[in-house]
Amino acid sequence: MSRTEIRRSGIPASSGVALGYVHLLDREKVTLPKKRLSVDEVEAEVEKFDQALEQAKKQLVELRKRFSEEQGDEHIYLIDAQQLMLEDKSLTEDTRETIQNERINSEWALQKSIERFRNMFNRIDDEYFRDRRSDIEYIEERLLRILVGSREQEYVSLQRQALVIAHDLAPADMVKLNRDHLVGFVTDTGGRTSHTVIIARSLGIPMVVGMQDFSIQVENGDRIIVDGSEGLVVLNPSSETWAEYEKRRESFLDSRKELLQNRHHKAETKDEFHIRLMSNIDFVEEVPAVINNGSEGVGLLRTEHLFLGGTIPISEEEQFRHYKEVVESIRPQNTIIRLLDLPGDQIFSLPNQLATSRSSALGIRGIRLLTKEPEIFRPQIRAILRASAFGKVSLMYPMVSCVEEVREANAFVAEVMDELSNEGIEYDSDIAIGSMIEIPSAALMADEIAKEVSFLSIGTNDLLQYTLAVERGNELVANLYEPLNRAHIQLISQVVRMAHKAGKEVGVCGEVGGEPYFIPLLVGLEVNFLSMSPGSISLAKQVIRDLTVSEAKKWLEEVLRLETTEDIKNYLNECYGQGLRSGGN
Ligand code: PEP
Ligand code: MG
Repeated sequence: MSRTEIRRSGIPASSGVALGYVHLLDREKVTLPKKRLSVDEVEAEVEKFDQALEQAKKQLVELRKRFSEEQGDEHIYLIDAQQLMLEDKSLTEDTRETIQNERINSEWALQKSIERFRNMFNRIDDEYFRDRRSDIEYIEERLLRILVGSREQEYVSLQRQALVIAHDLAPADMVKLNRDHLVGFVTDTGGRTSHTVIIARSLGIPMVVGMQDFSIQVENGDRIIVDGSEGLVVLNPSSETWAEYEKRRESFLDSRKELLQNRHHKAETKDEFHIRLMSNIDFVEEVPAVINNGSEGVGLLRTEHLFLGGTIPISEEEQFRHYKEVVESIRPQNTIIRLLDLPGDQIFSLPNQLATSRSSALGIRGIRLLTKEPEIFRPQIRAILRASAFGKVSLMYPMVSCVEEVREANAFVAEVMDELSNEGIEYDSDIAIGSMIEIPSAALMADEIAKEVSFLSIGTNDLLQYTLAVERGNELVANLYEPLNRAHIQLISQVVRMAHKAGKEVGVCGEVGGEPYFIPLLVGLEVNFLSMSPGSISLAKQVIRDLTVSEAKKWLEEVLRLETTEDIKNYLNECYGQGLRSGGN
């Protein structure tokens, strides 16, 4: 291998700088035996599969215990997600039936069922869910290892400043690493919202993902630097580069320490404009992070994961318990609960015609599903309203494209409210109802939509992809997915102005809301709230506290006059003085 310095860019996932030595983590794939069975072998094979399932469950119980002891309970839900998959009938029954009907061995049958299960996830046009594929792979590997009797490496002993490089990395792989010498991660696959990235961020370990074939280009022991904020990896760095990045690492750690001291300060500009900084979460287990990072409530509680992977729809009661738990832990702050935004064919109680309809980012999802199949939402809306009796709750509509949809949804919510009143069930009759603005047509009609709701929340992750026709999770067009595109900034500005003109609050809950380079533009617009990953809050506070609204307005005005994204970047670089910063958190 050449010893010359090589620089490679990937996707910045968890911020910070790490210097160390390559430790390749190779999850050796298990070879899959394929065999046809005679009729009398079938029952024994089903039995073998059932025993493997039991053993895998036991292993996960053990792993969960160890995970909890070593890393605390904050991310224990990641193991829970895998335990749930092992319970999922669409996986277990399907494998048994495949063994019986196709008369093939359990390993082969399992692989076929997993493939169907994986396709189900792949069809969901959402980066977050596509990233859950690593959990499926992990379950597949665990079961296969048990079935073929191959032992998994239980513990990986890392030595001196280990920078772990892997093709893919599941959360449970992280448990196997002794963390004393672990300094960073690089993976060939993955997106900014994968589980492993979530953990790396919360542990404060720098990480770069989406490096394609990097893991086959390095060797154990190679010197390497990872800059998780910039998404840069330097292999075989020269001694000058090494020294330079040592300094960068120190200054990053100093500023992080300083930031954490700031986390309970108000998010207020120097000229005393206050912006509510809230958190985006999916799971109740993330609540401690919301509170510890000093955020002012939950600005987006995504609910999709509650509906995914089961064979029966989640009940009103189960949903109620989940929402109530989050709401009670967040009160007196607000929790904005978003109605389900899954494509139609992912929901099990749908009539056949809809369930088999093609699913895509442009298909029946979000509020469209509500207007088409309101009954699917009745239990969810009832559960959210019931939770509103236990703390401050707002309800939010996803993927709104026009005002009619909002009117229809409002009428339905009013009907559900009457129903609860008639049943004598308590709820907050003044509950704030808001609409996401994440489709360009809704952005253009935000003035009309604002009249129908109490607040608007701009979902820039989708707004950007639909405005630029650039898929948000596609690494091949990732360079075109550019939030500083003027069309995008212009649309956001228009929405904020329209909402304020209508006397309504407006915020941003897409990723850019937590990006230090974008926040000044949103301050210039005087948005009311920003909602972001809890780990981004303290840096966002710092950025806001260093600004005045008047300078931010001036920058915004100029940006809206510039023609190209490049011009905008250069101009903001000058304004910020220190280059565009990415939170990576
Ligand atoms: C968005 O689109 O910006 C958003 C916040 O929603 P999601 O990421 O869940 O699509
Ligand atoms: Mg969205």
